[in-house]
Amino acid sequence: MFLSCALPRPYLLASDTIAYSVENAEMTLKGENASELAKIFGNRLITAKHELIIHSMDVGSLPKQVGWLMNTNPDAMVQPETAQEVQLLYDFARSHRIPVVPRGAGTSGYGGAIPRKGGIVVDMRRMDRVLSVDKESMTAVVEPGISWANLQFELNRHGLDLRCYPSSAVSATIGGWVAQGGDGIGSLKYGNINDNVVELEVVLPNGKAIVTRDTDLFCDTEGILGIITKVTLKVKPLLPIRSIVVSFPENYLMVFAIERIMKDGPLPFTMRFEESKYTDLKKRSWAEKETFPFPVHHCVLLVAYEGTDEEIAQGFDVVREVCEELKGTVYDEDVALREWNDRFYPMRIKKIGPTLVVGQAFAPIENLEAILDDFQFEQASAHAGIDGYVTSKTGVTMMGYFLEDERRRFFMLSWSQSFVIFKIAQRHGGHPHSTGIWLANYAPVYFGTRRLGRIRAAKLKLDPLEISNPGKVFAYWLPLILRVGKYFMWLGFDLFRNGFGRIAPIPLKWLQNLPPIKWLLRWGRAHSPWPVQYGLGCCMVDGAAAVASRWDLERFGMLPLFGPRQCDVLWVSGSLTKKMAPRLRRIYEQMPDPKFVISFGQCAASGGLFWDGYSLVTPPDKVVPVDVYLPGCPPKPSDFVRAHLILQNKIRAGTTHWQQKHESQDAMGVVK
Ligand SMILES: Cc1cc2nc3c(=O)[nH]c(=O)nc-3n(C[C@H](O)[C@H](O)[C@H](O)COP(=O)(O)OP(=O)(O)OC[C@H]3O[C@@H](n4cnc5c(N)ncnc54)[C@H](O)[C@@H]3O)c2cc1C
Ligand code: SF4
Repeated sequence: MFLSCALPRPYLLASDTIAYSVENAEMTLKGENASELAKIFGNRLITAKHELIIHSMDVGSLPKQVGWLMNTNPDAMVQPETAQEVQLLYDFARSHRIPVVPRGAGTSGYGGAIPRKGGIVVDMRRMDRVLSVDKESMTAVVEPGISWANLQFELNRHGLDLRCYPSSAVSATIGGWVAQGGDGIGSLKYGNINDNVVELEVVLPNGKAIVTRDTDLFCDTEGILGIITKVTLKVKPLLPIRSIVVSFPENYLMVFAIERIMKDGPLPFTMRFEESKYTDLKKRSWAEKETFPFPVHHCVLLVAYEGTDEEIAQGFDVVREVCEELKGTVYDEDVALREWNDRFYPMRIKKIGPTLVVGQAFAPIENLEAILDDFQFEQASAHAGIDGYVTSKTGVTMMGYFLEDERRRFFMLSWSQSFVIFKIAQRHGGHPHSTGIWLANYAPVYFGTRRLGRIRAAKLKLDPLEISNPGKVFAYWLPLILRVGKYFMWLGFDLFRNGFGRIAPIPLKWLQNLPPIKWLLRWGRAHSPWPVQYGLGCCMVDGAAAVASRWDLERFGMLPLFGPRQCDVLWVSGSLTKKMAPRLRRIYEQMPDPKFVISFGQCAASGGLFWDGYSLVTPPDKVVPVDVYLPGCPPKPSDFVRAHLILQNKIRAGTTHWQQKHESQDAMGVVK
């Protein structure tokens, strides 16, 4: 457990950086232009080739083939120290029509800080002062180039603290996170970065400096509308923060626990989760004397509370209670302290890479379990994992990690894996974490059409020459090429990694979705359901009667069996307890695709007689996706027949959960 919330202090001040000389310049900017720029920036104009190469990329490992599609090499880099210098830079850029690309620490991975058309990279890290701290209004005015870690150090000296920060806080800058958008540590309690910005000073591409509260225009927009030169941030009093760490044997138990902890106790400061494949990778990278604390294939949850000892203890009690009910294991203070300190190093698993391909996405919390399940299924043979933060009562932000080796000839194919987490999240109602270059064609989803319309109008007005970070947010052909290309990359990746075994289902799936074949399959599936029973209460006797001679369910093509591996319909009836829920899930997972679920009786649907029982999981679709609910206590054998007829109709119409996920949608018509 943890008694202080301070970040490690790297404290490398921008003023410590090395001075560069213009004499060695290899600029493609024409000579006289270069000297004009040198007049503004002196030895803070950098043209050394190795520096420019470093600033032609961000934290992502970019395959060289993607680099062929654009000019990522800047012509020069400048390091402004004042807003006036940024104004002069824009004047220079406008008169020579040279792109200007603002940059913080380059820790974003979607290309926002990478030049697309060469130009001048503007390294903001020399503007790293804390200008004022106001304890009354609980705000701090800072320059954009200071890192979150350094700002927290300064705030702590005034008895104040950050309300939220990214897990890249040790290097990421304030301006970078504001311009990139997102949420992270502390967002569960205090909102995302936009919620914490009070005011911005921005130098617009037309050279004017403005002070604005219009976060809709200047947050998240990757510097396409100007360079942020001052930020007024909300801050909070410095309070002790302590964490508790628990692990669960199944993903869905962890998701239950997350929801329960938020519902039953005080709102935690932050909650970080690690899915079980990620924990396994972490174990492989654990080269230390201490034994690895978590069992194989366990998911890990860190919950941090802030406040007085009583408030924290109250939170911990709720976590322990929830854990006891959901088969969680609570770890000791040492593990909690270690996990808390490790929150800044989620990418440590890179050392077993050697390359780490990373993707990021937002998703609704209610679909987190489905996302984790899909990820584990689709990435079963990959060295991959997910970790993330619960960032609001309804949403999570997740990072997907894939271990690779960029020295391999076909690394380009693996790079496409960075989109996998986003693809899965999107399937379950999620959206991209930012637009950058690679996801620019998802800008309407990310911003919403209204906000995007405002941003576009402002861009046309403020930057008609498109010099401020061109090719971001409003990029068209490159993301389109990547969008099409990435399907081929996925195919190629699977072919190389898994042979035809994983490729074959792709054309098969396509074939199965061709209308005549799809209808034929639906017809076949609707008329030959093979149920497996999971009877937990008395109504299963009525189920048995339904298959016997009097009601004769077999006349509908149904064949009741006892092995889940041969069946495609799961019957759940009776009281589903927390103890039995994992078994139900396991049976469901053992069934082959396609699969459907019917829930019989009042007990399964709502608890029935035991509606307020402490140990019930109702309704069962928290555990398996139920297609038909049949109420009644007991449901009669004729009701079992009726449930099957309803299921038949749903299968023919393609509206069962499985079909909605795996089939293209076009209802064939429900039989009345
Ligand atoms: C280990 C790790 C953990 C991370 N954790 C999180 C997390 O928890 N939450 C999260 O949201 N993200 C996270 N990220 C992504 C990234 O770190 C953040 O988005 C980060 O805040 C970007 O800051 P930066 O200073 O590196 O900006 P950069 O990457 O340099 O720039 C980001 C964008 O902002 C623009 N920009 C930079 N400075 C300015 C300025 N002054 N004015 C205008 N535009 C500007 C750039 O042009 C670019 O488009 C993580 C990344 C890593 C590597
Ligand atoms: S719904 Fe009624 S019949 Fe079915 S298990 Fe519950 S009490 Fe028994």
